[in-house]
Amino acid sequence: MGEKAGRRRPGPLAGLLVAVVVAAGCMGGGLDQGEPEQPGPRDSGRAASPGADSTRADGTTSVAEFKQDFSDAVGIAERYWTDRFRASGKQFQPIRRVVPYTRSGEVSCGGEGLPRNNAVYCSAGDFIAYDVNWSVGAFRQVGDAFLFYLLGHEYAHGVQVRLGIRYNYTIQQELQADCMAGAYIGDNVRSGTLTLAEGDLDEFREGLLAVGDDPNQPWFAEGSHGTAEQRTESFFRGYENSLDACGLG
Ligand SMILES: [Zn+2]
Repeated sequence: MGEKAGRRRPGPLAGLLVAVVVAAGCMGGGLDQGEPEQPGPRDSGRAASPGADSTRADGTTSVAEFKQDFSDAVGIAERYWTDRFRASGKQFQPIRRVVPYTRSGEVSCGGEGLPRNNAVYCSAGDFIAYDVNWSVGAFRQVGDAFLFYLLGHEYAHGVQVRLGIRYNYTIQQELQADCMAGAYIGDNVRSGTLTLAEGDLDEFREGLLAVGDDPNQPWFAEGSHGTAEQRTESFFRGYENSLDACGLG
């Protein structure tokens, strides 16, 4: 009784492998129980100020610098979600690790090798993995704000799993992750942990335009993330109004 929405598809977390060429393509879930091959480096706890040494479009950022900045963003995300969970009486378990990779298949999620040009959260092993060369390329193209968006979005998928959030459609999961990434950044800007340089908001807009779905892709298709407009709207809803706007329940 009371099943409203007709046919239920398996939730997006059940066996979903999504690779989007330009996007923060995501794997919302592992295909089965699997473990990544090796523990990746993960450190945390350093404060970052993306405005401090703003990098834009000039290709000066090295892979090593990017990895460092990414670790900083991870540390900020851990603190952010730890605080939010604590505020609602829960304990937050940080995502186990963050693994940069350079080759296709170098890292596996649930038995599936990860393709290049992607960033994912893998629920099977509770880790985030990203193609470091692809990410650095996007970083150079869009700007340093992109890194915080990318990490914020993938981290949000790990939070969704911790909260037991499962939607019927990929797009709902993805737009919520965009909203949560916006809240993570906006709240950290409001608290003074992050300082945005002039132009960073434009970088977010630019980056979100680049990761929108093809307009011809049906919204209900497995793998849909949302149009550029939808993703931009979700991100800024979270950015401006914090997590209350993201429907976490
Ligand atoms: Zn995603």
